[in-house]
Amino acid sequence: MSSVPVPQPQTQFLVVRADFLVALSDYHADEERIVDGYVLCEGDKIKESGHFTTEIGDRILKEYGHSLTVIGKNQEENSSEDIPRLRAVILPGFVKAHGHDHESTIIGLCRDVPLTDWLDGVINPFNHFLLQEGDNVKKHFGKHPNLIAYRKSRLDDVSYGITSSLTHHCNFNKYYTDLLVQANVEAGTKMIAAIGSQDRNYDPKILDIPAEKATDRLDHFSQECRDAPRTQIIPGPDQVFSNSAEILRAEKEWAREHGTLIQIHSAEEFNTTQWFREKYQMTEIEYLDSIGFLDENTILAHQVHSTPSEIDLIAKRGVKVVHNPLANTILGSGMPDIITMLEKGVQVAISTDGSGSADNQNIIAAARCASQYQRALHHNARLLPAKQVLEMITRVPAKMLRLNAGQIAPGFDADLAVLDLTRINMIPTTKENVIENIIWAADGSEVRWVIANGMVLRDNYQITIPGATQTLQEMIELQRMYLDYLPTAKKIIATGRRATQSE
Ligand SMILES: [Zn+2]
Repeated sequence: MSSVPVPQPQTQFLVVRADFLVALSDYHADEERIVDGYVLCEGDKIKESGHFTTEIGDRILKEYGHSLTVIGKNQEENSSEDIPRLRAVILPGFVKAHGHDHESTIIGLCRDVPLTDWLDGVINPFNHFLLQEGDNVKKHFGKHPNLIAYRKSRLDDVSYGITSSLTHHCNFNKYYTDLLVQANVEAGTKMIAAIGSQDRNYDPKILDIPAEKATDRLDHFSQECRDAPRTQIIPGPDQVFSNSAEILRAEKEWAREHGTLIQIHSAEEFNTTQWFREKYQMTEIEYLDSIGFLDENTILAHQVHSTPSEIDLIAKRGVKVVHNPLANTILGSGMPDIITMLEKGVQVAISTDGSGSADNQNIIAAARCASQYQRALHHNARLLPAKQVLEMITRVPAKMLRLNAGQIAPGFDADLAVLDLTRINMIPTTKENVIENIIWAADGSEVRWVIANGMVLRDNYQITIPGATQTLQEMIELQRMYLDYLPTAKKIIATGRRATQSE
């Protein structure tokens, strides 16, 4: 890790001014929609934010002009002013509370099948490809192929305005956490890396038996990555069905000792959830509760299929839920009743899941999908209004992940997503509809500038992360190599319910 270059803000100060500022912060609680707003950053923190005036502009230029980046200068017709008012809306950078950085290589493959078939149809064969062909692939690229995937995922996130993420580092990827952390450090984003584990009902090649293998891995990577900026390591057992009580207890204990969160996939697919209940004679939540796994530091990804008493227990224990409507609908997994969870006081964030199941990282689309589905389910158009789902991809997940992000206010991390309002679909945008247009009119591709930790990672649509063009080219080649290998691959039936069927 020591040789990875750590990017820094280009100048000490950075200012962005636009038609609208939607701060989503307690600090600006009285100003939900600020017209002609600005944000001034110093290093990796926000220094000032609010309504722009000529006096403020003059002061910023006088006091900070010696080392000031002005966003959008000379990039629009009307942007020759010293601090141009961009036809845009400034938002906090989006916070992704559940995703996977290894799936970018396999987007669009093995579609139209449910979760377990998808895991066995593309996730596991791709990992076997890397195992079997790894040396050749590594030689071809002069680097580990997983690093290419992790770097590509950083580009995916930034292109959709995501500046912080929890990356659930599942299956074979658990062995390559150092490369994931390297990709995050290089890119300039913030990451919580949840390292996976499993000791049953999964590909036998990667079972952590004895359970200490999982906690030893956590110790190893925490030590190795201890100096990595903007990065945390936490336990992330893959699935409830693939982890025994022994390994889950050990990892929860590790999380308690180290004061970290823990994340696990739970009750994602209908058939697998039913199979688990029959096989173990209890629901997944009852199982987790019986081994002391559930508390306010536990985050469940999905929890699509819950009984009413499970939701009560989740609420009682203070457990958090990350809802992934894109992946859940594409894989036909089902959709959870988020409204009931919220009514019972459960904290719920909206996320994308990995690029393999959601096929992109369009977190605005995820927010919209969540709202649409709950309205249809409950026959109620008043549910999950635009501002609420916008908060569920910014300040709610930031709080859940204990990040100093997701809001625009002095002292918060300098993470911003600036959306283009000159796009045809965004016209007309006014004070009255700016928040609504972000959710209902935008298609997610309006992210024109992205600032993460004070660094400009997307500048007038151009990704500025070093090596981005090369990573994209390598990604195309990597998928081609995998597709050429695929006809010779051994069929895998190893995941969850399917493992039982094959016995
Ligand atoms: Zn997932």
